Parts: sequence; C-alpha cells; structure tokens
Amino acid sequence: MDNQIISVKHVSKRYATAPYSGVNDISFDIQAGQIVAIIGESGSGKSTLLKSIFGLLKLDSGEVLFNGKRVLGPDEQLIPGHKEMKMVTQDFSLNIYAKVYDNIASMLSNTDISSKNSKTVAMMQHLHIEHLRDKKIIELSGGEQQRVAIAKALVSDTKMLLLDEPFSQVDALLKNQLRADLKRIASETGVTIILVSHDPADGLFLADQLILLKDGKLLQQGKPSDIYNDPAHIYTAQILGNAVALTPADAEKLGIHANQQVVFYPEWVELKASWASRRFEVKDVYYKGFFEELLLERNGVQIRAIQLNREAHKKNDHVQANIGRFLTFDVDAI
Ligand code: ADP
Ligand code: MG
Repeated sequence: MDNQIISVKHVSKRYATAPYSGVNDISFDIQAGQIVAIIGESGSGKSTLLKSIFGLLKLDSGEVLFNGKRVLGPDEQLIPGHKEMKMVTQDFSLNIYAKVYDNIASMLSNTDISSKNSKTVAMMQHLHIEHLRDKKIIELSGGEQQRVAIAKALVSDTKMLLLDEPFSQVDALLKNQLRADLKRIASETGVTIILVSHDPADGLFLADQLILLKDGKLLQQGKPSDIYNDPAHIYTAQILGNAVALTPADAEKLGIHANQQVVFYPEWVELKASWASRRFEVKDVYYKGFFEELLLERNGVQIRAIQLNREAHKKNDHVQANIGRFLTFDVDAI
C-alpha cells in the first residue's frame, strides 16, 4: 500500500549460542500512523524482532525496509540504529542525575531556544509529567521514568517509535492511563508505534494490528478483534482470551459430537436455568472484579464460564450451561 512505513521481509536471526532462539522467517508490513503490538510469551523473539527492525542486529537472512529503503545493520554503519526511529528499551537510557526537563530537552537543538522550550513543555503535558519537570530521574518511580523515556523519544518529531515492554514498570491504574495516552498521542501526532508486550491485553486494547509470536515464528497477524474472534490456532485463543480446549473425547462427554478439538472462550458459554440437561457442578468461583469466572464440571470434564451476575451461582451449586458457540481444530493442531 501507499503509506507503508515498515516492511519486514523474511527476517531470520538465530543466536549462535542458542540454536533454537531468535526469530525465524518473519514477514509483515506496517502502515504509517498505525499502532502495532507484537505479543508473545517471554523468549518468543519479541525483542529480537524489535532490534532487527531498528537495525541493531546483523540478520541471518531477510531485510527490513523503512519507507522503502533497507535498514542497515550494525556492521554497516558507525552508530547502530536508525536515525528516523526511536527505540525505548526496558532500561530507558536516561541521564539519571539530570532533571526530567533537561533529559527531554537534550534531544532538541539549541538554535531556537523558545521552540525547544515549548516543544519540551508540550511533550511533558502530553505524557502528564509536567509536575515532574524539575525532579531528577533518580527520584522518580519506574512508571514515571517510563513516561520520561517516551517523551524523550517523541520530542524530536519522531515518525516511528519502538517500545519494548512499555507497561512492564507501570502499575495497573497508571497502565490504563499510559495506554490511553499512547493511543491519543499516536492519533494526534501521526507517529507510528510498534510495541512489544507479553501481555495480550496491551495489544487488544491499543493496537490497530496485532502480531502474535510463538517460538520465534509469526503465528497470526491482523486486527485484534478479527484475531480474537477467528483465531487460526488454539494457542492464539488461549493466549488472547484464556480459551478452553477440549479433546474430541471430552467434548463427546458434554454432548458435542466432533472428531476435532473443541475450543471456546468462557464468555461463549451461556448459563441459564431453563435447560433440563447439561447440568454442571460449580467446582470453583474466581473473582474477577465486576464478573466472576466459574469452573464447571460435568462427566469429569471441566470448562469455564463467565458469570456477570455475581454470586448467582456459588461453589457446589448445579447450573445448566450451554456452549453456545465453539470453534473446531484438528486433533494435532496447536
Ligand atoms: P522476548 O523478547 O520475546 O522475551 P528475545 O527476543 O529476547 O525474546 O529472545 C528470543 C530467544 O532468543 C530466547 O530464547 C532468548 O534466550 C534468545 N536470545 C535472545 N538474545 C540472545 C543473545 N544475545 N544470545 C543468545 N540467545 C539470545
Ligand atoms: Mg524481550
């Protein structure tokens, strides 16, 4: 497409010391202005992929294009990395003895002092850190440092922001705010963001495009809602929505005749009083805030269901559950 900013083409990078490591034959494109979330478990290759895009790793094969031009590797230029991209890693690389303002302003030239000042202040406001202006980095919490690092990366009219686990230091409440801020900044400034996270909720909440990695391979990519509703793999459904997967034999015990694995999200299970059959016993109740998840068992098979009406059914109750919708996968599918 026209406004493609990044094109990852068959990128492979294996680390010599660990034969089954790194990433393997990854390809995808990113449109300018998108937020892309790369999601995967620890060790799935997320940081390797991000570093490959930024030009920090010598690739075994494949290439990354930025606006159609190949991103050079660390052996091809004096300073590794790409001038038009900024990467915020988990160590933030801030000057810990300097003030917040000076850390951010240091990215701007001194030729126009008043513009330097106004841009720095505007970016601090964007990230809700203007009250920290005169504090030293060393005096800040991890979450505050994270915001300063992002402000510093964005202040020089950055077109492309790469974030490695941007929410790892942030506690739950602030995490939602930082996610919302990133989304707003992206739409206001048009910056393209690639963020890497082990928490699928980050991708579902933020991303225009989600890329799922497993063992160094790209498992599935697309719009978060498409991937969620139409997962190509059982693993996808499990990591995104904690899906239940039943063997054909177990499904049979619940009255579902399929020669395949039966997969569904807990919210697809309907709890109703009207069905005479399909009685399940509530083995456990997990408190989830405004809803509960029930662990249900029938004929020795366990499933999970969402209960919005809290405490409608309690542990040891019998309930009637209908698996209203499910997906099927081959017996040996992952
Ligand atoms: P993630 O960011 O998803 O946790 P990484 O990209 O850091 O994953 O790592 C992917 C795999 O490559 C892991 O098995 C990791 O141990 C291995 N790996 C990463 N960096 C190196 C390295 N410098 N040397 C050897 N193995 C590495
Ligand atoms: Mg990592």
